[in-house]
Amino acid sequence: MQLACLDLEGVLVPEIWIEFSKRTNIPELARTTRDEPDYDKLMQGRLAILEQHKLGLPDIQKVIADMGPLTGARECLDWLRVRFQVVILSDTFYEFAMPLMQQLGYPALFCHKLVTDEKGFVRDYVLRQPEAKRESIRAFRTLNFRTIAAGDSYNDTAMLAEADAGILFRPPQNVIDEFPQFPVTRNYEELCAAFAAASARI
Ligand SMILES: [Mg+2]
Repeated sequence: MQLACLDLEGVLVPEIWIEFSKRTNIPELARTTRDEPDYDKLMQGRLAILEQHKLGLPDIQKVIADMGPLTGARECLDWLRVRFQVVILSDTFYEFAMPLMQQLGYPALFCHKLVTDEKGFVRDYVLRQPEAKRESIRAFRTLNFRTIAAGDSYNDTAMLAEADAGILFRPPQNVIDEFPQFPVTRNYEELCAAFAAASARI
């Protein structure tokens, strides 16, 4: 049996922090690991900004639900689920992703989680494990699954390399240049075709 492992943000749904920043008009929330390489510093900064703007989890989830998945994402995911067991491997948090998961038919999602207080403010976060995407692929191998992984950015490349086949979806140019071994897909039709081709090959 083959497993299809998909990144979430940039593949099935928008980049959550960036889109959230636009919808709430809080530009500081659009900072990413490119601006602040220390992930913990970045996250603690984000949590402080949310508190400063009095945004609790229910407010945040409402904004995220309105984003919706990317156009065509649900159809692509449904196509894959008929042909593979599909697991979404993401560095987001369950509490953020669930409003979007509902719109995708609740596929299996492995990601991190948030810690909230009694008033609904986000106080902290808990990573499931370091290098969670790559470690998940390794674990699937011990369960005798063959894996095909797809993602859009730098934080997916270890997962793509660890899988039996890796596919890039709408990646930035620097990732294409640095990882020429992975096929590049630009739309869902190409992504599904790349999964079918990889499936026949591995
Ligand atoms: Mg992504």
